[in-house]
Amino acid sequence: MDTTVQTTIGNQRKVVTPLPGPKSTELHARRQKVVSAGLTNGFPVYIDRAEGAILVDVDGNHLLDLGSGIAVTSIGHAVPALINAVSEQVAAFTHTCFMVTPYEAYIHVCEELAALTPGDHAKTSALFNSGAEAVENAVKIARLATGRPAVIVVDHAYHGRTNLTMALTAKNMPYKDRFGPFAPEIYRVPTSYPYRDGLSGPEAAARAIAEIEGSVGAHNVAAIVIEPIQGEGGFIVPAEGFLPALSAWTTANGALFIADEIQSGFCRTGKWFAVDHEGVIPDIVTTAKGLAGGMPLAGVTGRAEIMNQVHEGGLGGTYGGNPVAAVAALATIATMREQNLAARAEHIGDVAFAALRALQQDSPIIGDVRGRGAMIAMEFVEPGTTTPNAAAAKAIVSYCNQQGVIAISCGTYGNVVRLLPPLVITDEQLADGLEVLSAAVRSLR
Ligand SMILES: *Cc1c(COP(=O)(O)O)cnc(C)c1O
Repeated sequence: MDTTVQTTIGNQRKVVTPLPGPKSTELHARRQKVVSAGLTNGFPVYIDRAEGAILVDVDGNHLLDLGSGIAVTSIGHAVPALINAVSEQVAAFTHTCFMVTPYEAYIHVCEELAALTPGDHAKTSALFNSGAEAVENAVKIARLATGRPAVIVVDHAYHGRTNLTMALTAKNMPYKDRFGPFAPEIYRVPTSYPYRDGLSGPEAAARAIAEIEGSVGAHNVAAIVIEPIQGEGGFIVPAEGFLPALSAWTTANGALFIADEIQSGFCRTGKWFAVDHEGVIPDIVTTAKGLAGGMPLAGVTGRAEIMNQVHEGGLGGTYGGNPVAAVAALATIATMREQNLAARAEHIGDVAFAALRALQQDSPIIGDVRGRGAMIAMEFVEPGTTTPNAAAAKAIVSYCNQQGVIAISCGTYGNVVRLLPPLVITDEQLADGLEVLSAAVRSLR
């Protein structure tokens, strides 16, 4: 398949200054005075423009993007269809507030969400600005629809940084540290983490369910909120059967299954949604990130009979489903369909997993290679043990960065390096990125 990007900046990584370069360093100094210290960058290169899978920084370095701004620019940078759609919409009108005077693009996005999310039942959606806002609204809706308070989340979960979603998120450092107190009625149960727990999917589900029933009480549970593949928590793919068992339990117990597909959705894993790999049909799906190619947009999509229980005026927000973001989503979805980027994600995974598993053979610091499609990770450990090795992950990311490759770390223990390339990355670019990553790993042994 031809995924060549027509580009004016070239398809190749090219480092022309030490990184970060002088202009980036200057901007970084300027930033210290006016940007809150609470925001940090592991790799402070400042970007000037981008195309396909290449970011060009202010010093003229061409960087290979294996992060996609955390799974956002899945269709690549500077896609003509998106540029045109956004430009036309900006010229037509930028905002009315959907609750004041509505417009078609909002409806069209909801039609796409209804068609693409799993299950052929009637669905309705509400649109928001960020992933956290979507998760928060999904919980509001679930509590209202079930009349129950308790929300179940799992170990290593990440659901955002607002007060409620911090409560849902597992990792205290740095996301929650001293920001509490947090919203009540959130209960955390063990997840399925095959590399570390060795349990089958049904065994891990039985463990989680025993804790829900024994400690929380099934009759109190409004919803289980879960990432089908965990993102920030370390790209943890649950063992087969775990998600279907939890989903079946919610159905049997009058609770809702909310799939947080914000990172794993929109072709990232080789299908439209990660739950599609196991045929799970959630009651509610939250989406954001890859949905709108970089414009801020998030969705809550669920069974119409659940979503429509909300009283008139109960949902909304000034900007949610903004027309510019909405047309960006339509262009993004059209691009994913036309270029079959789900298949492309699967191909990226085939290439990357083969290379990284071969690398693992003689790299005792690689404990696990995992992921699905173009959601790819390596977990680093002390050789001969499963003790997390965050120093290795950090050194590898830093090595890649110095070579002009954007890779990011994640994981509760900070010992996972993840790749989220734009799905339009060419085979040559992918091979180049994997070669740099392999050299980074080899440099440590
Ligand atoms: C990023 C993310 C969120 C939060 O989205 P924001 O747009 O940053 O608020 C929620 N859930 C998952 C799974 C995510 O990856």
